[in-house]
Amino acid sequence: MIPKAAEVRLTPEDRAVLEARVRAATTEQRDVFRARIILLAAEGRSTRSIARTVGTMPRTVSLWRGRFSREGLSGLADKPRPGSVPKYDAETGKYITQSLPCPFLDGNLCSIYEVRPAVCADYPHLHRNFRSRLWQVIDNAETCPIVYNVVERLKKTLGFVES
Ligand code: SF4
Repeated sequence: MIPKAAEVRLTPEDRAVLEARVRAATTEQRDVFRARIILLAAEGRSTRSIARTVGTMPRTVSLWRGRFSREGLSGLADKPRPGSVPKYDAETGKYITQSLPCPFLDGNLCSIYEVRPAVCADYPHLHRNFRSRLWQVIDNAETCPIVYNVVERLKKTLGFVES
């Protein structure tokens, strides 16, 4: 269920900052995404309509409009996370998660949903050889509570019985 939409009001200064973020070619994709959500919310657009426009889930829109309405521009930044931060591996060009659960989890939402790793977006990889990947998929449930919930839902749907 989508929570009640938090009201978003922009000062002229906040609007200028957000519009500049959207325009600048050097702004990180995740910051452009969050700025677009807030600018659309300030126009009075509904959460669902914004989600359709920016190509995400309504819950993700709710997360950012809620953060902005409580904390202003600083609410759009990534929060410091418990545990060690993901480490960048220059050799592979990838970030390696050092702690469990995944440091990008915010409440029960993925805080980087719009730019989440391909392996997360691809989950549960049903279009590939599902049988050979099964254990890897199950391992992910220890890292990401979202994956855990998917596995639990599958167990219920498929009538899985513990022996
Ligand atoms: S493991 Fe889950 S919380 Fe972490 S980045 Fe992937 S989808 Fe997001």
